[in-house]
Amino acid sequence: MNAGFTPVTRCWVCDGDRLTRVHDAAFDLHEYATQDPPLAEYTGVSVPIVRCAACGFAQPSALPALPRYFDRLYDQRWSDEWVRAEHDGTYKDDVFAAVLSGLHARLPPGRRRLLDVGAHAGRFIATARRAGWDGEGLELNPKTGAYAAAVTGAPVHHGNVHTFDADARYDAVTLTDVLEHIPEPRLVLGRVRRFLAPGGWIAVKVPNGPAQRLKERIRAVVRPRYRPTLADNLVHVNHFTPASLERALTREGFRDIAIVAGAPEMPNEKGYGRLLRRIVFASARTFPGAVHTPLALNLQAYGRRD
Ligand SMILES: [Zn+2]
Repeated sequence: MNAGFTPVTRCWVCDGDRLTRVHDAAFDLHEYATQDPPLAEYTGVSVPIVRCAACGFAQPSALPALPRYFDRLYDQRWSDEWVRAEHDGTYKDDVFAAVLSGLHARLPPGRRRLLDVGAHAGRFIATARRAGWDGEGLELNPKTGAYAAAVTGAPVHHGNVHTFDADARYDAVTLTDVLEHIPEPRLVLGRVRRFLAPGGWIAVKVPNGPAQRLKERIRAVVRPRYRPTLADNLVHVNHFTPASLERALTREGFRDIAIVAGAPEMPNEKGYGRLLRRIVFASARTFPGAVHTPLALNLQAYGRRD
């Protein structure tokens, strides 16, 4: 028997209560059978992902009641080789370049204190420091955080946005592929706002919820044995639309919000995959309103603290 679920009855973005099912998130945690048996007990169940009629945001209709479920899920015991390969991997370099370019355009040259939330193995910090930013990191996983600090020479603080405090210390805070993983995303945004000095900017990159759901459905048609897995194990709990992401940032006090198509990751794949990704991204950045279409597979948001 697993520890059960706690219902989530209100939209995390707008507090709306008209929530309808769009997907089911399945649990397969058998790999944790030895490391964490209570976690592995969730294998085989599923929980509906529901969409808010008022704002378009989608979220789980319930969360596992097992204490510290997400910390346990992310307590991966990675090998040294894997961590090093994550730092050296180039697959997110287009994303990192786009984030730095967006912040560079919004901040005067003298303001370059940056915190990367979810610093992982430190590749973004290293990239930012080479570009003249005074970059630091915040990372929950002790192994990747220690590696990031060692390889970049930058401070990489251990913890999450709720345990960390930095009163108005930074000019920029980045959350790249982080916010989709944390329940109650507005609490995260409100917390991060406190880390920013007045006039500082947040940069948030998340998957575009409706576009990713469509992509998964197309994949399932093209490859009959493929099963959509986006929300499995609740790895992704927050499924934003451009409008709901803007709403979340507005409600947490950010101003001058801009939402554009986010750059794609470039896996080291053969064939036309990389070219196709670049063409779709270029289209999503070029055509007016394309950020509201499935061409925008990722969303990149910026918001300013007054
Ligand atoms: Zn809502």
